[in-house]
Amino acid sequence: MKQYVYADNAATTKIDKDAYDAMIPYILEEYGNASQPYAFSRNPKRALQEARETIASCIGASPEEIIFTSGGTESDNWAIKSAVSSCEKNKRIITSAFEHHAVLYSFTTMERYGCQAEYLQPDCNGEVTVEELSRRVKDGTSFVSIMLANNEIGSIQPIKALCEYAHSQGALFHTDAVQAVGHIKIDVKELDIDFLSASAHKFNGIKGCGFLYIRKGCRLLPYIDGGAQEFGNRAGTENIPGIICMATALKNNCRCLKENQERIKDLEGCLLKGLSEEGIEYVRNGGENTLPGLISLSFPGADGEAILHRMDLMGICVSTGSACNSKDTEISHVLKAIGLEEKLARGTIRISLGKNNTLEDVEKIVSALKKILK
Ligand code: PLP
Repeated sequence: MKQYVYADNAATTKIDKDAYDAMIPYILEEYGNASQPYAFSRNPKRALQEARETIASCIGASPEEIIFTSGGTESDNWAIKSAVSSCEKNKRIITSAFEHHAVLYSFTTMERYGCQAEYLQPDCNGEVTVEELSRRVKDGTSFVSIMLANNEIGSIQPIKALCEYAHSQGALFHTDAVQAVGHIKIDVKELDIDFLSASAHKFNGIKGCGFLYIRKGCRLLPYIDGGAQEFGNRAGTENIPGIICMATALKNNCRCLKENQERIKDLEGCLLKGLSEEGIEYVRNGGENTLPGLISLSFPGADGEAILHRMDLMGICVSTGSACNSKDTEISHVLKAIGLEEKLARGTIRISLGKNNTLEDVEKIVSALKKILK
């Protein structure tokens, strides 16, 4: 297989080898259905419970507050549509204009069902402030959803303060933490949130697997009806191998969180220094408080799409935006939301470094950008 420099870790990540190894026995040997009472299903059932405990302990939750899903998109859709549908009061709902489409389009659906939605504007650094939320909250706001970290520019949101304000107005609070889980420290109790979405393939687990944290006491109608799996909240035979892989990967990332963050931040610093030393002019989007390794760069006068394709020819994977809209040549809704001028927005690429990247990768990226841009 051709050797690539993979620098698109915000799109997806490589599965940890031990997370992969951990799931194999549950595909080939221990394949019993966890809902069956016989002895053959005992091990898969126990492994499912242990995975739930592991994941809960990684985010400061209780095991019963973790519900396994098929990934970030399902978790977002479920939290938003079910929480809003079960609110008895006025259906005023709030999110930000630069959320992932899993959130934005769920809001569009709720608008079709008669909800009044508000879309908060982040500031030019990609931060949704409490002031903006307090300006836009109206009487009867029942639900607020703000992402923990943005997937295109990496900006980390003041979730604790936003949630505190939402609660003070009687609204439930959901956060799409798909880019943040396994990369920065998250304690759901400290943040005091009601719902949190996560996706395994963003933290070195398998694709098609994720979870939704539902705070004890919060009501959420089942999104998928059928069997009694997941405490009657989410029907369907559990993806036990995927869940075991996800729990192992999250445990790995949380155990080495600081170490990974420092290494990735160092690589990030080398990349930016390398660009400056080569005299390449760029604007970094997302402000000061960003996810480690998520680097959104705008090159004045350049064409982001063309950069991406030339880097691809050199065996380097980067992105112009989120994986879901990279076929779309329109300016990203995220860059529009932070008010980036069109000239810069068109020359933007996202480089997302992960724990498997090396200094050599960074040097290749700098050298490729030098060839393309100079
Ligand atoms: N939310 C955010 C912020 C994301 O970045 C993504 C994926 O890119 C998703 C949701 C969707 O997650 P999944 O790919 O697991 O459906």
